[in-house]
Amino acid sequence: MRTEISARKVKGEFLHQVEELSGQSVWACYQCGCCSSGCPIAEEMDLLPNQVIRYVQLGMEEELLASKTIWLCVSCFQCFARCPRGIDISKIMDALRQMAMAGGVDRFGPGEIPSAELARAPQQALVTVVRKLGA
Ligand code: SF4
Ligand code: SF4
Repeated sequence: MRTEISARKVKGEFLHQVEELSGQSVWACYQCGCCSSGCPIAEEMDLLPNQVIRYVQLGMEEELLASKTIWLCVSCFQCFARCPRGIDISKIMDALRQMAMAGGVDRFGPGEIPSAELARAPQQALVTVVRKLGA
């Protein structure tokens, strides 16, 4: 995929939408990498959590919405706990998934999940919802 970075994209509409949906200040990130070094899913990701933030800063919408990383984040909050700038990346991942789905992308349908994974899914899904909603 050819990547184009321009002044129009940086701090553009995409960044504003992500900040509005997530409630996070994306430009507060100074790329220390503490989030990525603690992420338990990092090895499976095609973009590390700090790279996701950088891509949002640069307005690289197409690349982000096509990445598998946004569908792999399990909202464990490890990155949030480690971030010196108080950025909750799980909320940014949520915003990006929401934007991808609004564009017609839905990475995993229930029928495509291997049964062994599905057996483990409810517990993980429940923990994720409880953590996110503070229930
Ligand atoms: S830990 Fe926070 S400041 Fe550091 S790279 Fe990750 S999001 Fe940015
Ligand atoms: S919330 Fe997502 S990005 Fe952050 S450490 Fe957990 S899995 Fe990784």
